[in-house]
Amino acid sequence: MRIDPHTHSTASDGRSRPRELMQEAAAAGVTTIGLTDHDTIAGWAEAAAEVGNTGVSLIRGMEVSTKYQGVSTHIVAYLFNPADPSLMAHIESVRSSRLGRAQRIVERLGVDTPLVWDDVEAVVAPGATIGRPHIADALIVRGVVVDRNEAFVRYLAPDSPYYVPHYAPDAIQAVEWINQAGGKAVLAHPRAPHRGRVLPERAFDEMAEAGLFGIEIDHRDNAATQIPELERTAHSLHLARFGSSDYHGSGKPNRLGENTTSPAVISALTRGCFLEVLNP
Ligand code: AMP
Ligand code: FE
Ligand code: FE
Ligand code: ZN
Repeated sequence: MRIDPHTHSTASDGRSRPRELMQEAAAAGVTTIGLTDHDTIAGWAEAAAEVGNTGVSLIRGMEVSTKYQGVSTHIVAYLFNPADPSLMAHIESVRSSRLGRAQRIVERLGVDTPLVWDDVEAVVAPGATIGRPHIADALIVRGVVVDRNEAFVRYLAPDSPYYVPHYAPDAIQAVEWINQAGGKAVLAHPRAPHRGRVLPERAFDEMAEAGLFGIEIDHRDNAATQIPELERTAHSLHLARFGSSDYHGSGKPNRLGENTTSPAVISALTRGCFLEVLNP
């Protein structure tokens, strides 16, 4: 079994449609995929419809944008009740804040580049969660940059004059909501220095206390020098070890299955959750 539990589709900032993601997983020899788009479950149904055709099992999830004391923190929610009012209402406010924020970034960029809002709308799938990668894609179409990475380096990083933040709920609260919704919570890429300020050690204790299930250790954005410390933290707080590609289709160099999670961890993850893994 090769289990890659954290990936994105066109329901957020991935470049493959959910059905293409499932087909690509089959071609890459991945046996189980976690579809975890940013702040949305809009891709679940299309991916679920491909389980039978592709023979790839599906773990339904969502990567929740949160903040821990001002530090942007991504928490992957798995197998929760998609009708849970508390979790979904908060996600809805993140999504609407992301929209206004993207419009303001585009206004700022429009001063120095030919970018207009229509360019961004043209690259976002209907109903998708909007993020900076869509602005990057619009800049590529306009010929301002060659790829998403150049757009982030030149225009979209948090220290850029064009950057605008969006609302995100508190990380501890989010872990509680996910558990209350019958799901399990995994802290994504916790030691990714290029993503801005990193979490203090205390954050791990508080999230574990709130019911965190695991942390992503095997992820290309975690600094190699930090892995031993993450392993110690996971061990002492009884947090499961996750690994994933964080695949975004052609939007990032990350390849499906480049990091995986053990079957034992996934079977512990699924135990007692509101939803089940969809198997062929
Ligand atoms: P946002 O959701 O607007 O905060 O944008 C963050 C997203 O941008 C992350 O989920 C990544 O998928 C993507 N991202 C961040 N840095 C880069 C980069 N250098 N190249 C491509 N995508 C990136
Ligand atoms: Fe992303
Ligand atoms: Fe993330
Ligand atoms: Zn992700």
